[in-house]
Amino acid sequence: ASQFGMNEALEKLGIKTINEGTSTGLENFSSGEILESYSPVDGKLIASVKTSTAEDYEKVMQSTTAAFKTFRLIPAPQRGEIVRQFGEKLRQNKEALGKLVSYEMGKSLQEGYGEVQEMIDICDFAVGLSRQLHGLTMHSERPGHRMYEQYHSLGVVGIISAFNFPVAVWAWNTALAWISGDVCVWKPSEKTPLCGIACQNIIAQVIKENSLPEGISCLINGDYKIGELMTADTRIPLISATGSTRMGKIVAQTVAGRLGKSLLELGGNNAIIVTPDADIKMTVIGAVFGAVGTAGQRCTSTRRLIIHESIYDKVRDALVAAYKQLRIGNPLDENNHVGPLIDTHAVAMYAQALNKVVAEGGNILVEGGVLSGEGYESGCYVKPAIAEAQNSFQIVQHETFAPVLYLVKYSGEVENAIDLQNGVAQGLSSAIMTNNLREAERFLSVTGSDCGIANVNIGTSGAEIGGAFGGEKETGGGRESGSDAWKIYMRRQTNTINYTTSLPLAQGIKFDL
Ligand code: NAD
Repeated sequence: ASQFGMNEALEKLGIKTINEGTSTGLENFSSGEILESYSPVDGKLIASVKTSTAEDYEKVMQSTTAAFKTFRLIPAPQRGEIVRQFGEKLRQNKEALGKLVSYEMGKSLQEGYGEVQEMIDICDFAVGLSRQLHGLTMHSERPGHRMYEQYHSLGVVGIISAFNFPVAVWAWNTALAWISGDVCVWKPSEKTPLCGIACQNIIAQVIKENSLPEGISCLINGDYKIGELMTADTRIPLISATGSTRMGKIVAQTVAGRLGKSLLELGGNNAIIVTPDADIKMTVIGAVFGAVGTAGQRCTSTRRLIIHESIYDKVRDALVAAYKQLRIGNPLDENNHVGPLIDTHAVAMYAQALNKVVAEGGNILVEGGVLSGEGYESGCYVKPAIAEAQNSFQIVQHETFAPVLYLVKYSGEVENAIDLQNGVAQGLSSAIMTNNLREAERFLSVTGSDCGIANVNIGTSGAEIGGAFGGEKETGGGRESGSDAWKIYMRRQTNTINYTTSLPLAQGIKFDL
């Protein structure tokens, strides 16, 4: 990795050999065990992080709850100015941070840069939004009364994030939380702790330069046990958790048990419907990118293609031909299309999925396999695979976080394809490839896709920050990023003001004193 300028990148981001995994913005400390971060790219140790103990966590919570008391008093547009400065710092660090994302997580360098760009974009969005945290004004039914609603800062936002978007998910949350006047405590994935350290180092500069209260951005590194402390903590009104459905179900129950709010961004099982009127060339590009991009480790990765029987053979053959062109290797090398999986556990899950689909009666069209030898020393590189399968197979119903694409055939009308597309537990992203207006509109109608994201003539993968991002059913129901997703970071208050000299009671009730 040194040939890709990784050492310079690590130095620029302030990554040391051993890093303090707990930070309140100005103070960095940690008394927990050492967590080593190995790169899936070359299997080498990048650096280590000291994790946080329950005592460290307590110190963070004291700092952050104190910071909230002053941070909420700063006017929203001024908080927007802080986020603007943060976006500037991200621009200056885009190359270094993008490289670290690619090296620690394994996604391609372009995707690493793209992830940092998403952080910059949400900052820009949040700066404008800081002057638009609007409530409504309503007409009161009582004479001489005014009624309106306003949004106030909520408090501490607890952010628990997944390995596959190790920096962007944090920024989606923090940029909106900060303009809302909230303070943040972040537990990054234990698989990508250095990305967390790098981001915290960047925001710490903004905190120092603006003499902001320490604790508006806190970092705590550790595994699910630290996450459990957060979810049970009544001082955290909102938990935003991104990760597996398994994790989300546990987090949701704990947070609901104390009547806190949770924003859940969980697993997907995303499909593209390919109708007889589809543009085959566009379909193949969208499907291949969606299935093998980030080595199939996006929540929006394309897992299923639901293809009409009349064009099935044509699409299948085009896909098989396209898969033959894929170059698998070091993601820092821009000539490669597919990088590694996050770790050897993910490789085992991938191999298990391929065995299962065969055991259930599926037919492998493009063989998978784990790569070894020069350039593949980490043991995390696998071949993207395609299998013909039934939608009802257990393995097809399950999200395998790897480049395995299932082809499912449908016959008759588009309604049949929509039934198959909706016939899974997850509800994140979906797409239809068609030039037929009726099919497209049916897919987008109330009886169409049941997902949070539904696209026409674009694949399932990726999303722009301007729209609200998230999904239904086992994906958790949360919405992040654009549109009015900011509202969950604030508390709503309805206000009624009487500017007369009498007090008419509601419902005509008389109460003479
Ligand atoms: P994961 O569920 O294993 O871990 C996610 C985070 O949750 C980690 O920080 C982990 O430490 C923490 N965690 C685990 N158990 C916990 C518990 N009991 N209490 C509190 N915290 C706990 O997920 P992963 O392997 O890192 O990421 C992959 C998954 O994330 C996939 O299912 C993917 O679809 C999903 N994902 C969803 C979105 C989305 O926006 N919908 C985005 C990215 C990833």
